[in-house]
Amino acid sequence: MPVPTELAIRTLNLTRTFEVGETIVEALRGLNLEVIKGQFVALVGPSGSGKSTFLNLVGGLDRPTGGELWVDGMELSASKERALTEHRRRRVGFVFQSFNLLPRLTALENVALPLIFVGVPERDRLDRARELLVQVGLAERLEHRPTQLSGGEQQRVAIARALVSHPTIILADEPTGNLDTATGAEILSLLRRLNRDQGTTLLLVTHDAEAAGFADRVVRLRDGQIAAGDPSHGLSPERHSDSPAGALSSAEVSASPDQSHGGRP
Ligand code: ADP
Ligand code: MG
Repeated sequence: MPVPTELAIRTLNLTRTFEVGETIVEALRGLNLEVIKGQFVALVGPSGSGKSTFLNLVGGLDRPTGGELWVDGMELSASKERALTEHRRRRVGFVFQSFNLLPRLTALENVALPLIFVGVPERDRLDRARELLVQVGLAERLEHRPTQLSGGEQQRVAIARALVSHPTIILADEPTGNLDTATGAEILSLLRRLNRDQGTTLLLVTHDAEAAGFADRVVRLRDGQIAAGDPSHGLSPERHSDSPAGALSSAEVSASPDQSHGGRP
């Protein structure tokens, strides 16, 4: 009997449509994707293919217009606002291309900040923030403000902040986009190490072919769907209709692309 593998993310015909004036933009057009807990997935694809839209949905920053989205066994597509807020605060950590640190706060204060919103006392907030800054190699930069740090250091602070509330998923949207190649590679190594050490699921958007080499799996998006020819393309959404919480056997997970084309809609 194969041991059931837990899914971090599962989508069923997921859509997100934007209306701008008279124009309708279909950013996601029926996305079917499953990500196993702890996996490091690189999401690649041309500009405008829906990568950021998808990350925002998984992070609970935005809502789908159709289909289902399950994250850690919770159906976000059917969740109330309060549950989405909890999801954002406790389950996900975001890392952005532009770092998004608060300029007036020190590295330590930036990292500790998210813990205010989940009610952690100050002493514990600072202890935890310090511990994470040490893990990302910034033990000597605790009191520095963002302008006193290099780009790579700022992104390390942002990564420490993303991890501070023990999220189960890290969502990184082109985290190396503002960094030189060598610094970008260091950031990717760091993300991979943290993913391995902490078992956190990592969804990394990148259009850097090299970046994809750090991941366990590469998923290609095109026009709001899994690109034709991608190993994940054409997986039947009906396949797991008997397991709404998203359980998936390891045999199914490792099924070859040819086998999984059987139930294609
Ligand atoms: P990517 O991150 O792959 O470059 P996005 O997910 O940002 O792509 O965008 C996918 C498509 O959806 C694009 O055509 C974009 O213009 C459109 N889009 C994204 N966000 C919005 C929005 N808030 N309002 C209107 N259109 C949007
Ligand atoms: Mg984007």
